[in-house]
Amino acid sequence: MSADIQHFIDGAVVKGTSGRTKDVFNPATGEVARQVALASKAEVRAAVESAARALPGWAATPPAKRAQVMFKFRELLIKNHDRLAEAVSMEHGKTFDDAKGEVARGLDVVEFVCGIPHLLKGEYSDNVAAGVDSVGIRQPVGICAGITPFNFPAMVPMWMFPVALACGNTFILKPSERDPSAPMIIAGLLIEAGLPKGCLNVVNGDKEAVDALLHDPDVGAISFVGSTAIGRYIYETGCANGKRVQALCGAKNHMVIMPDADMAQAVDAAMGAAYGSAGERCMAVSVAVTVGEEAANSFIEKMAPKVRGLKIGPYNDSAAEMGPVVTQESKDRIERYISEGEADGADVVVDGRGLSLQGYENGFFVGGTLIDNVTKDMSVYKDEIFGPVLSVVRAKTYEEAKDLVIGHEYGNGAAIFTRDGDTARDFVRDVNIGMVGVNVPIPVPVAYHSFGGWKASLFGDHSIHGMEGIRFYTKLKTVTARWPSGVKEGAVFNFSGGSDV
Ligand code: NAD
Repeated sequence: MSADIQHFIDGAVVKGTSGRTKDVFNPATGEVARQVALASKAEVRAAVESAARALPGWAATPPAKRAQVMFKFRELLIKNHDRLAEAVSMEHGKTFDDAKGEVARGLDVVEFVCGIPHLLKGEYSDNVAAGVDSVGIRQPVGICAGITPFNFPAMVPMWMFPVALACGNTFILKPSERDPSAPMIIAGLLIEAGLPKGCLNVVNGDKEAVDALLHDPDVGAISFVGSTAIGRYIYETGCANGKRVQALCGAKNHMVIMPDADMAQAVDAAMGAAYGSAGERCMAVSVAVTVGEEAANSFIEKMAPKVRGLKIGPYNDSAAEMGPVVTQESKDRIERYISEGEADGADVVVDGRGLSLQGYENGFFVGGTLIDNVTKDMSVYKDEIFGPVLSVVRAKTYEEAKDLVIGHEYGNGAAIFTRDGDTARDFVRDVNIGMVGVNVPIPVPVAYHSFGGWKASLFGDHSIHGMEGIRFYTKLKTVTARWPSGVKEGAVFNFSGGSDV
């Protein structure tokens, strides 16, 4: 059977030839909506060759001209905002408004790189020695690749390729095979915006395509966003093959609620952060740590009716606050975790298992779930569940709460809710977490700052977008130049540094 979603190579949609395809579902109905082609090694190689042909011309294009393409791309994204959001929602399941927000966050990165001439300004030191000047310039890495997860099929690719392209690289995107439509639309828009063919190629696929990229000698850098197990593999394999790799991975984000917090505000924040996008966000809050018995009781008491009252529905139900999860497999995994928590002795205060929506009985819906009295040895605490499940751990003291954050395997995000500046400052300074919020539940950095976690949430040296993104997608070259009037008589044999250079 021929796939509905193919590849985008050398400026055009190209039919898959591997004979392998995968079902893409409508998560709200559980039906197969379409099929995506899965690339073979040879098809990935064709994309690399296209990117290699495009590279010299694009790398030599002045940054201001590359910015012009990004300006035009920005206009087209705005024009196609709803179309893209719909493509995201249909395959991911998130509500239409949430998908629009996702596209808008990708757009932010495009706007950031519209300033690429300024961002690429190098360093210059006049007269580092007599008649000698030193210049630091940042040049493109070459052919870069991006491997992206299902949960932000438009935004996460736009964390990567706009920055890479603006820096003068060419790019190969391997999107998630679970919701591949949005990246194909985006690739078409870039051609419309004037991007030369071959600068952005999209190969759909699975492990076979990823492995082909990891082993291709012409790929210089790989950006990955996805789960920790796969991210570790990508990082180790990519590095072993001499590539620059950044791998942004899984998370278990804690929200600490101090006794002095504005509880109504904390509860609203936890609702959005735990259940928005059905918890399928790497910055979702999945653990609430209450400090003191009073805060714990008040939090549970206020949360429970709200979680029970969550409006759940398909993406095109404008009243829905949360949609289905992405696949039946995800639904089964999430429900298994809830059962494990229960068996481990936690209290399932609101149980989202076995939810069936009228008219959508085969959809992959899981109801909002609130689990109290979770302890740190339980799998619901240790593992990333990636669903609408909030675990509540009752800490007696602030120190105990902070130790939980510090001791957890993951280090993507953490937040503290308090009115006390001293406590907030101590938290910000002490936790080993990449993105920290003070009375902000999902502290996602804006596009001109950089996004990235610590510990098992990121492998590599660079976070993504912002100046870290510019550094990742460029190589530093330092030039030391002496002009004839600075040349002294005779050869110099000693390594004197300093004024002789
Ligand atoms: P995933 O790891 O299953 O897939 C990510 C990508 O890797 C996909 O393109 C997939 O095709 C590919 N892949 C899957 N298995 C592979 C294998 N065996 N070998 C090579 N490639 C393989 O992740 P997902 O389920 O699509 O996304 C959810 C995960 O992504 C969560 O863990 C979430 O926390 C994480 N995530 C992290 C961030 C972040 O910035 N830290 C952002 C978004 C999502």
